[in-house]
Amino acid sequence: MAVGTAVDWRERLDAGDMSSESLVLTAFDRIRQLDPHLHAILAMDEARSLQVARAADARLLAGERSPVLGLPIVLKDNLNWTGLPVSCGSRVLDGYRAPYDATVVGRLLQAGAVPLAKANMDEFAMGSSGEYSAFGAARNPWDTSRVPGGSSSGSVVSVAAGYAPLALGSDTGGSVRLPASFCNVTALRPTYGVLSRFGLTAMASSLDQVGPVAATAADLALALGVMAGRDPQDSTSSDLPGAERLASFRPGDLKGLRIGLPREYFGEGLEPGVRSLLEQALQVLAGQGAELREVSLPHTRYAIDTYYLICTSEVSSNLSRFDGVRFGRRARGGNLPAMIAETRDEGLGAEVKRRILLGTFCLSKGYYDAFYLKAMKARTLIARDFEQAFEAVDVLATPVSPGVAFPFGTKTEDPLAMYLADAFTVTAPLAGLPCLSMPAGFTGGLPAGIQLIGPAFSDVMLLETAHAFQLLTAHHLATPPLSA
Ligand code: GLN
Repeated sequence: MAVGTAVDWRERLDAGDMSSESLVLTAFDRIRQLDPHLHAILAMDEARSLQVARAADARLLAGERSPVLGLPIVLKDNLNWTGLPVSCGSRVLDGYRAPYDATVVGRLLQAGAVPLAKANMDEFAMGSSGEYSAFGAARNPWDTSRVPGGSSSGSVVSVAAGYAPLALGSDTGGSVRLPASFCNVTALRPTYGVLSRFGLTAMASSLDQVGPVAATAADLALALGVMAGRDPQDSTSSDLPGAERLASFRPGDLKGLRIGLPREYFGEGLEPGVRSLLEQALQVLAGQGAELREVSLPHTRYAIDTYYLICTSEVSSNLSRFDGVRFGRRARGGNLPAMIAETRDEGLGAEVKRRILLGTFCLSKGYYDAFYLKAMKARTLIARDFEQAFEAVDVLATPVSPGVAFPFGTKTEDPLAMYLADAFTVTAPLAGLPCLSMPAGFTGGLPAGIQLIGPAFSDVMLLETAHAFQLLTAHHLATPPLSA
């Protein structure tokens, strides 16, 4: 099967050169062939997907045209698709099936997209490598001895390996951008609120966003337009300004674009290979007339601490609903408290327990001021840094991660080392800002991405800028050895 972009597949479906049904059938063949090596998929319902595909074919045949009509899409397993399991990568949800569609999934279905499968992930989206999945980690298609990045590992691997041209992940502190960088795909974390969180299992509600994943920014534009906009079911949701530009998507003008390079992101920890890829990418942009300016985001050094205090506090509250009574697994336990304790003990993994404990501690009487409140203040300072930077520049360009995909097992024994992989991805979510990761090239045979961060609600401009870059480069078209 040709591994194409969503835009290619769109054209071929519209021209009648192929049907959605045939696309979906070949996708399932590909999953059967490759997924024993990559372990990106946790659940499928082939009959159901084929039924949705045939309905899309009928709409195409009747002359209907819309951005995602007939295109297969893989969903992270923390997004509800009615009737399918929604495991969140956890044993605690064994046997649980989604009772309704997430808003983003419902909007995709209405527009005729074809959900293909539910994708592997770090348990409850906590992790940076995919290794905290209770079902075993997904693998990086560029080197199966290395992690694909997390927590949306299966969604990203599905696009990188050509199972589907589109996938949805979620991004709380980097979970679509980090794996995108490790696997050579493009992923957007929209401005907080642009995509409804209704039907996305909550990890840290003030940070969680659904994030689309694809080979290119032009592909992301197809999916974003269909999903974005206010949803009465999520009071934090809002419309996306400029959404109409997604329908007639054009590259942004790089001439005169002021690109800020935050000094704090280019410090010592950055691997030399990644640094040189970034420099080359920036030269491509400068070659088209973009102005590169150094800027400073002085509170960046507090970002990891701030993120992990706020994230774990919200996790401790959100995950209290998994008590063996309402969802999924229930341990035997002699009485109610024992049943709840045993359900959590057997059902949840070490990282999830660590975060619940840490978050409960941060929020407890006597410690709340010193930890949670302090973190909230630091969050404001981090957001202000960005506001100031955007007075002088239009967009920021940074590395996504200090390094490339790491071998399995290198960070699982040391949670702090795992958290540090997020140093460059947790800042924008703390400020609610849109950001994306796109392929910058290869170092030592492994991909690395470049991150763009924009002011609030500049999502369309970010995609247009990324599209302009991708018209000048070809890294994003490289396919991993397994899928060639
Ligand atoms: N790696 C970060 C964490 O473990 C981000 C996770 C995410 O974005 N869901 O919290």
